[in-house]
Amino acid sequence: MWCIVVHGGAGLWSEKEKFPTIKNTILKSLEAGAFILSAGGSALDAVVDSVMVLEDSGVLNAGVGAYPNLVGEIEMDAGVMDGKSLKAGAVASVRNVKNPVLAAKLVLERTDHVLLVGEWASKFALFMGLPSLNFDRNANLLRYRDLVKKFEEGNTRYKSNLTLYKQYPELFHETVGAVALDCEGNLASATSTGGLALKLPGRVGDSPIIGAGTYADRNIAVSTTGIGEYIILLGVGIRASQYAENGLSAKDAAENIIQLLTSRFGKNSGGLIALDKNGVIGISYNTPGMARGYYSSRMSEPYAEVP
Ligand code: ASP
Repeated sequence: MWCIVVHGGAGLWSEKEKFPTIKNTILKSLEAGAFILSAGGSALDAVVDSVMVLEDSGVLNAGVGAYPNLVGEIEMDAGVMDGKSLKAGAVASVRNVKNPVLAAKLVLERTDHVLLVGEWASKFALFMGLPSLNFDRNANLLRYRDLVKKFEEGNTRYKSNLTLYKQYPELFHETVGAVALDCEGNLASATSTGGLALKLPGRVGDSPIIGAGTYADRNIAVSTTGIGEYIILLGVGIRASQYAENGLSAKDAAENIIQLLTSRFGKNSGGLIALDKNGVIGISYNTPGMARGYYSSRMSEPYAEVP
């Protein structure tokens, strides 16, 4: 059996006019993953291809659609993990790389390291032949102004204060991720993001932190979304792995983790997708919505839901 699950971020999801396009994007992403898996390809290749579709869509907070930081610049994070080999790769704060998830995969495949950051991570990706992306500065600026305006309408000033993100869940939606199980029973996970909108420059979230926002082993694969700092503090990926090691299904592990996240950090703090070696799916979040979908060899067509 094969199975793939994707998410397009937990958050407020108030812009209903965007829902049909996002739902279509999620369906396309599931089809890209299923194309690999149904031909006997690896879970790792499937999650990377699925996430690339989401990064290229421009309608989610990753790749082309990444949200700007506090000074209006783009800094993206991505991580991938292969449950079979227990190898992982990640990049953080990369700027002009079209597909950060591919850069993360190259770190896994071509280096002895797990995480590359900043300017040298971007240089590594370009040196390895990945396409660069020069963000449309005007569009980016407009987006930045729009975000700042929304923020000001809430009569508040930016502070490096995570409670603000809980108050404004629109500032952290639309991170993307995928988890997959291939025909050989191997699991993999990938996550990619522009990070929290209006984050401090240099801030790194949970997505490229292996064991927090991205994790896969022989029992379970996990990709998270939400306020990255909380997800890092709870070590969500490793926690899911421990739950699975103790016999919990991906569904129960996901629910337990979100209960814990809510009890420690309150509502509107995050969400995750998980998939276990038996093909059981876990989808859980404590925000008003989370875009998500799944597809398996037992289904005739992919399923997606937004928010
Ligand atoms: N988890 C991401 C981060 O903190 C944000 C998101 O999920 O939208 O960077």
